[in-house]
Amino acid sequence: MSDLKLFNSLTRELETFTPIHPGEARVYSCGPTVYNYQHIGNMRAYVFADTLGRVLSYKGYKLTHVINITDVGHLTSDADEGEDKMEKMAAAQGKTAWDIAAFYQADFEADLARLNICKPAHPRATEYVEAMIDWAKSIEAKHCYELESGLYFDTSTVADYGRLARASTDEGEGRIEHVDGKRHQADFAIWRKTPVGETRQMEWDSPWGRGAPGWHLECSVMSQSLLGHPFDIHTGGIDHREIHHPNEIAQNQAHSGCDHSGAGIWMHNNFLIDRRGKMSKSAGEFLRLQTLVDKGFHPLAYRLMCLQAHYRSELEFSWEGLQAAFVRLKRMVMAWEKISMTSPPADFQPTSMGKILSNHLDEFEAAVSDDLNTPRALICFESLLFEKSIKPHEKGDAILNMDEVLGFRLASFSRSSLRIRPNSAVIEEADIEAALAERKEARAAKDFAKSDAIRDDLIAKGVEVMDGDPLGWDWRLEF
Ligand code: AMP
Ligand code: ZN
Repeated sequence: MSDLKLFNSLTRELETFTPIHPGEARVYSCGPTVYNYQHIGNMRAYVFADTLGRVLSYKGYKLTHVINITDVGHLTSDADEGEDKMEKMAAAQGKTAWDIAAFYQADFEADLARLNICKPAHPRATEYVEAMIDWAKSIEAKHCYELESGLYFDTSTVADYGRLARASTDEGEGRIEHVDGKRHQADFAIWRKTPVGETRQMEWDSPWGRGAPGWHLECSVMSQSLLGHPFDIHTGGIDHREIHHPNEIAQNQAHSGCDHSGAGIWMHNNFLIDRRGKMSKSAGEFLRLQTLVDKGFHPLAYRLMCLQAHYRSELEFSWEGLQAAFVRLKRMVMAWEKISMTSPPADFQPTSMGKILSNHLDEFEAAVSDDLNTPRALICFESLLFEKSIKPHEKGDAILNMDEVLGFRLASFSRSSLRIRPNSAVIEEADIEAALAERKEARAAKDFAKSDAIRDDLIAKGVEVMDGDPLGWDWRLEF
């Protein structure tokens, strides 16, 4: 077995994963702020975290994975300015902030399921407010100061603040807006007081007045409450490397009284971008997983698209790229269909693994152990799927083992489950099949005028007839 090497953003180096508790892997991933739908860029962060979890399980560790739900405390910017995202959306939709959170959490969880993301624990920030107040009380005297707007963390009280971002002075602080009375630009709120004369839907009593916890505090408290101090791996998108995670680290140092960052390894996925740059909700229109499905793409085509890029590289979204990933997925499903339909000979005895098969598995394992090199792992997977020198029944189990790491669940697919009806479709599948059967008869009877007429009628309804398609797909609905 190869050692598992992971890139630690804190040291900017590849490190061998060594669990803090033997045989276990405890992972915390910053989860969504549930004030809106997730865009597909957000979902890239969870495909990455899920892949990490799957690789850890494959390597034999007992995995505990937490993705928290931020249902309070996140302002419209990562720093301390702006409105509360939950309250703002609640006002816009005329609903309570609690309803907004419940609705978008359910939608997020449905997207996780559609991407075959294993169900991790999903604690909600609002369930931990008491623990957050206790944490803030314990660090208040040595590390915090109070202003009219809240309780602030003094970043100069911990060693090496901002070492994760590598920008503790000019670059990092430059992005943080001014709050009157803050001692240092980078200081941040750990408790935000409700302004006098205002009432918020989500507010709690605290020693610093009624208000709500700061977003950074949530993750320190939830990760430690659920996974201990220190735990193994903390993940998030690369934007969190600049403000959110340095602030979590500062709080962890203050709380533990030592310089440990709180996690053994900090890992960050790069952005999904499009022609306009980083995909984000503030940019207005954004793509949801549902948008892809509405256009006829299977959600796992998007999972495959993510795995085709290394998690530390930017990934540019395009419809052509998604289409190519979808075709690649179809080829895998068809190859597996053939393999699984071939029954082993009656006298088949499972024996020790042949050399060629074990080479395939070793290469796959080496690829995922090399900082989750999924582009290479996919090639290993396909090379085994299409390997002619190994009989289908001899490679079936190895393919399913690899599939468990990549997360396609090939065995639960059928060709028809890959055929997704675009929203714009004006014809039912059964009618397409009936028209194609009629066309087949016409062709057999050499009635080409009729066959062409049927084809033209189908085209007018958005159906592309794919005669002789090497994939064996007879038709597809245009989108
Ligand atoms: P948020 O709800 O904004 O806190 O984002 C949830 C997760 O998605 C965080 O880990 C972000 O870093 C990550 N994220 C946000 N935008 C993108 C993007 N365009 N590509 C990849 N990850 C992203
Ligand atoms: Zn977080």
